[in-house]
Amino acid sequence: MAFRTEALFRDDAYLKTTEAEVVALTERGGIVLDRTIFYATSGGQPGDTGSFERTDGGRVAIAATVTGETKEEIIHLPVDGQALPVVGEKVRLSIDWPRRHLLMRMHAACHLLSVVCPFPITGASVAENDSRVDFDIPDTGYAKEEVTARLMELVHADHPIFIRWISDEEFAANPGLVKSKNVRPPSGTGRIRLVCIGENATVDSQPCGGTHVASTGEVGEIHIGKIEKKGRENRRFRIRFGPPPVN
Ligand SMILES: [Zn+2]
Repeated sequence: MAFRTEALFRDDAYLKTTEAEVVALTERGGIVLDRTIFYATSGGQPGDTGSFERTDGGRVAIAATVTGETKEEIIHLPVDGQALPVVGEKVRLSIDWPRRHLLMRMHAACHLLSVVCPFPITGASVAENDSRVDFDIPDTGYAKEEVTARLMELVHADHPIFIRWISDEEFAANPGLVKSKNVRPPSGTGRIRLVCIGENATVDSQPCGGTHVASTGEVGEIHIGKIEKKGRENRRFRIRFGPPPVN
């Protein structure tokens, strides 16, 4: 049976700690809670790591967070060899915030890249220091220096980044919202989560379940490390933090 975990990170990506109750332990030793701030791996963003503090003061280190039988069931995978909390126990959760904040900055940077390069997306992967977005295009016609400059214009403009929920009907009436070529956002739950950039979403809006920083300024300095050819019709852009390396 699948549990439904209340995903607090969907409404507030900045929660670093919270209390929760253990509702189940899986056969593989995973921990399911009634609610969580740990993002579960999906949409190209890796799940959170961190720890639980037990009522007796003991700690349980969490190595990974994944979804279970359904997307609503979130499973925390502890580092092997630790004493596990029991069902009904209250625990205090802490995510590895420095790592998560890097992922939020990088994830928002991927959205900015999709604004600068408005082409169909075939894949994306977010990591702490190197992210990639694949576009379905034979040639962008852009040099990486030019893309970096346009990304940094968006960063310097410090546009707000916020979440807006729309109905399935509103979403169906706006097919242009989807930039991903192969992945359709889950519909049928009655609402779709849009990640919007700019006042009144004038810069961008697209369906996404991930965690992002609250403004483009918070992304900080980034650059395009590489534009790689991935087959005839695909170009892979690699985003890195900091200024471009000086040759
Ligand atoms: Zn996103």
